[in-house]
Amino acid sequence: MSDTTNDPGYGRTAVETLIVGAIIITMDAARRIITDGALAISGDRIAAIGKRAEIEPLVDAKEIIDGRRFVITPGFVNGHIHTTETLIKGYIPENAGFEDGIWRWSVPLYELQTPAEQQLAGRLSALSMLRTGTTCFLEAGTVIALDEVFAALDETGIRGRIGQWVLDRAFSPDQDQTALTDRALRILEDELVRYPGGDGQRLSAWPLLIGHNTNTDALWRGAKQLADEHGAGISAHMSPAKVDPDWYLAHTGKRPVAHLADLGVLGENVSLTHMVHVDLTEVALLAETGTNVIHCPTAALKGGYGTTGLGLFPEMAAAGVTLMLGTDGADHTDMMRATTLMAGLFKDARQDAALFPAHQALEMATINGAKALGLTDQIGSLEVGRKADLVLHDTDRPEWKPLLNCIAQLVWSADGRGVHSVWVNGERLVDNYRCTTIDEERLYAEAQTAAKAITGRSGLSLVCPWPMI
Ligand SMILES: [Zn+2]
Repeated sequence: MSDTTNDPGYGRTAVETLIVGAIIITMDAARRIITDGALAISGDRIAAIGKRAEIEPLVDAKEIIDGRRFVITPGFVNGHIHTTETLIKGYIPENAGFEDGIWRWSVPLYELQTPAEQQLAGRLSALSMLRTGTTCFLEAGTVIALDEVFAALDETGIRGRIGQWVLDRAFSPDQDQTALTDRALRILEDELVRYPGGDGQRLSAWPLLIGHNTNTDALWRGAKQLADEHGAGISAHMSPAKVDPDWYLAHTGKRPVAHLADLGVLGENVSLTHMVHVDLTEVALLAETGTNVIHCPTAALKGGYGTTGLGLFPEMAAAGVTLMLGTDGADHTDMMRATTLMAGLFKDARQDAALFPAHQALEMATINGAKALGLTDQIGSLEVGRKADLVLHDTDRPEWKPLLNCIAQLVWSADGRGVHSVWVNGERLVDNYRCTTIDEERLYAEAQTAAKAITGRSGLSLVCPWPMI
């Protein structure tokens, strides 16, 4: 039936691709795992999914893929990634501390990148995400050259929500607060107009705030209003360290979430990243307002945020807060590593092996991410009519042998290096471990040259405890 696309058999539906014989983790409402399954792709959508014996007679496919060596999952949703940080990977010392890490290292290293270098960084981050199974991401809000980065990401075929870096709080008395806030709001409105969302948009702009104490109440209110008007969402960093609640208590008399609730800027289209130093009153407010929380396990561990000792993520989950996962900085972009950490951190912290089981960590990386991004009816699960965003995990690898429990092995045994193929929007963007939209070798060479140039211009020396000879 492979050559009958233009003349499908009686009652059969013509589709582009049919994958047969795979184990399919659907993440549908019943959380069905289909053995000896089949999945058909037509255009940008999933046209059919089910048992091979049921689906195969119903479709005529241009291309049939033998899926017997694969476990198929929905594409992962990375809730927090600085796409333009990839060219400074490994350069910020791990003992820099929270404040120094941001202001002495990260911000200068971002700001001195040319638009072309940011574009390169965006392309490298997309490659890194796609090759490890991430099909959709939420940018962290630190893109400076928005047009160039948007164009680069668009070329790769990945799905995402990105926005221009805006800071508006006047930290020195000679700055005009009103002018700074007005300028930031103009940038946010402009990006929403130029890169609109709406049904089916693969890439679009969101008003992404840096958060912490860098945004005024006026910017929060304005950004929320813009997001609501344009059908977009907001994200912001908050409370990775005690410095955020301390600042809000000193300046507003309330903890950060209570203050944002008072402003009326929380809600289902708002996602707050980190949220380690929160109290139970804040957890209740998050649940009440439907505000999403993005946990970045690697960043929390590397930054010494105190997530295992202080984090109230089990309480957030119990209260019904939508929790999703992110990778944050550029150290790695592998969402499968994030699921492993998520499934382990609180088991150990609370000495309770029932906390965040593998299947719950997988929900955080897929359907919860889709929900937080307002894309529940489009991505996050493999169902007829959903976008064809999916990952083929190669089980012809040691970590998958023997294959007895696909959920446990996905989270505890495998990682993104076993991602064989990836589709986004019906396009096969990774095929047999190679990205189809990016010249990988050329990108690696360009990235190495650019990274040397950026770090050289920064005047910041590489910190390495051992002699490099
Ligand atoms: Zn971040």
